[in-house]
Amino acid sequence: MPDSSVPEEPSSISREIVELARMVRNAGKCVVLTGAGISTESGIPDFRSPGTGLWSQVDPMAVLSATAFRTKPEAFYQFILKLCETLQAAEPNDGHRALATLEEMGFVDVLVTQNIDGLHQRAGSKNVLEVHGHLRTGTCVKCGKTYEMGLVLDAVRRGELPKCSACRAMIKPDVVLFEDPLPIDFVLAQQAVVESDLLIAVGSSLEVAPVCYLPAMASHLAIINLMPTGYDSRADVVIRAKAGRALTALVDAVCLGSDGNGRSEQGNGRNGGSSIE
Ligand code: NAD
Repeated sequence: MPDSSVPEEPSSISREIVELARMVRNAGKCVVLTGAGISTESGIPDFRSPGTGLWSQVDPMAVLSATAFRTKPEAFYQFILKLCETLQAAEPNDGHRALATLEEMGFVDVLVTQNIDGLHQRAGSKNVLEVHGHLRTGTCVKCGKTYEMGLVLDAVRRGELPKCSACRAMIKPDVVLFEDPLPIDFVLAQQAVVESDLLIAVGSSLEVAPVCYLPAMASHLAIINLMPTGYDSRADVVIRAKAGRALTALVDAVCLGSDGNGRSEQGNGRNGGSSIE
């Protein structure tokens, strides 16, 4: 007869997930860094997985650059319109929801995302740093007046270039374009990673600068990604699985506790340690 007082470990929880759960529970401060790979299960293609529709006909660096915005604004905005329609049709997936749960439970302190799709916030994550900006609003390049992206896209659909109602200068989406300086969120992300005990990188090739430098600043590193990354060899744990499944299993494992005895005595969240042994 199985002992019913001992919680059964779900068979989907691999040894790596259990090890990562232990690290999460013991981390004084845990930061998660997400990339386009966490949103592929919501139907949004990433840049680097083979044959991904949205990006297969265009070079993202050419079409989403500050030069393209300045020199070919019509083509730039036609692409932004298509991109926004793709993002708006998407819903948060199990991976986004699992990260929101981990934050709510007190196990994730800061979520740094390279994504511009807003799905983390829609899943319930609160402390999100958007190091590549977002597509919720646009700003006049001259006077700084801010506009809801819906209004900006209405102008594009009418065949017009979105111009500021106050000064008639162009409105630029609040996304960080190639060639743009990085926003304050990147400085805050750097600080959060340096102060953390654990960085979990999820669904990112970790190749896009300067975000690709963040894992090198982490004292402990875990990677959840379908394909190998340049940081795998220095990571404490590498989980080669889909983000949705891996993060759902991580929530289960964190709840079970690495020793299988349930939540820590401290109650909400981690074991209260300031570092990972
Ligand atoms: P990337 O395309 O370079 O890498 C994505 C990685 O995710 C790949 O290594 C791939 O193997 C992995 N992956 C794909 N699906 C996965 C899944 N279900 N589970 C786990 N891993 C999965 O993406 P990046 O590193 O974020 O860098 C590209 C840039 O693209 C970023 O600057 C980002 O702003 C931008 N981007 C954003 C979105 C979005 O907002 N959703 C979409 C495309 C690109």
